[in-house]
Amino acid sequence: MERARITVFDTTLRDGEQSPGCSMNVPEKLRMAHQLDRLGVDVIEAGFPIASDGDFQAVQAIAAAIRRPIICGLARACELDIRRAWDALKGAARPRIHVFLATSDIHLKYKLRISREQCLEQARENVRLAKSLCNDVEFSPEDATRTDREFLVQVVQAVVDAGATTVNIPDTVGYTMPAEFGEIIQMLRERVRGIENVVISVHCHNDLGLAVANTMAALAVGARQAECTINGIGERAGNASLEEIVMAMRVRPDRYAYDTAVASEQLYPSSQMLSEVTGVPVQPNKAIIGRNAFAHEAGIHQDGVLKNPLTYEIMTPQSVGVPDSRLVLGKHSGRHALSLRCEQLGYQFERRELDEVYRKFVVLADQIKNVEDHHLLQLIREVRHEAPRIPPAHVEIPGAIAAAAGKGYPIPAPMERHPLEMTLHSAHDHHGEQEDYLWGV
Ligand SMILES: [Zn+2]
Repeated sequence: MERARITVFDTTLRDGEQSPGCSMNVPEKLRMAHQLDRLGVDVIEAGFPIASDGDFQAVQAIAAAIRRPIICGLARACELDIRRAWDALKGAARPRIHVFLATSDIHLKYKLRISREQCLEQARENVRLAKSLCNDVEFSPEDATRTDREFLVQVVQAVVDAGATTVNIPDTVGYTMPAEFGEIIQMLRERVRGIENVVISVHCHNDLGLAVANTMAALAVGARQAECTINGIGERAGNASLEEIVMAMRVRPDRYAYDTAVASEQLYPSSQMLSEVTGVPVQPNKAIIGRNAFAHEAGIHQDGVLKNPLTYEIMTPQSVGVPDSRLVLGKHSGRHALSLRCEQLGYQFERRELDEVYRKFVVLADQIKNVEDHHLLQLIREVRHEAPRIPPAHVEIPGAIAAAAGKGYPIPAPMERHPLEMTLHSAHDHHGEQEDYLWGV
């Protein structure tokens, strides 16, 4: 069966940039845009040119520098916005104008103060105007999921007739549910004449934590463009997260038999770059790219992962660009993980010696959250009553245990990474595993 191709539309630099604390200047946006190009997204929404001179310049600079993906600029459904967007975009190899107009009654009445008829006319007229400037025109009926369905069909019909090439259905306020959103997409496919000639896109917000689920539901019924952002940044609770959508398709092709052009090994580097540029960290338990996404602490999990990563990992860290799995040594770690880390530090133990190191380790792990290498080295030295094999120059030890036992122990730095390959090749003595779990779980 031929797999459908999903267009990945990244709006990190437009919707994402609108999230508190995430604004970026022109050089920062340009740097991110180069990374998005490496990542392999199909469309970069580079900004909202009428919003500010900075936005205009960023769109213009990205259009000039990034030539492979489509470069898109946002515009309200009015002449001034559309012309400004076009001025910023016209140097692009593949420009797209994205026109939006709210269609829900609540937006028409309180925000725009126009009737449905006026809305319909405004949408039609401005798609025509955009089309006269640029062949690639996307239209979004803002707040589509709270729009009367009959009216939504009328608006989408009007913009398809006026020449829109992509129709994007936004869940602007993060209100819809997966099954309901799927029904809306299906209804449009059934009722809008000529919709088979345009790309149906979705743009979901995460106010109820359903942005990715809603996006996946729409793809399953025929949407072929997903709008999303790196790290899921965006207005309020954010947008659908690009890395989650891409990896959902990659891990479960049996359910979502679609391809994207995304180079998944660039997901983690992209996420890291965005955090660095904006100064906004990623939550540790964030799927795919969070610090803990591939960290295993429970002893039974660590033991399993060391024997075969597939026991607890549905994708490899390498596949999303995380250098390797991180085994966090904490009080739930088992003896297997401990002995492996010791080995990586240059120490191999007889069983009795390991028992002693392990007992001390458990006492320490009870007092501090993560046991780091320098703590371990101190333990090992105590057990062996000998000088370290690893030159002390790059390990600060003094009073590690004593300090750890006291209060105010500094927050550990991120764990060092240890290649998983090493772990797979090391020959281990697995006797007494049950004991490990008594200690470790
Ligand atoms: Zn949005």
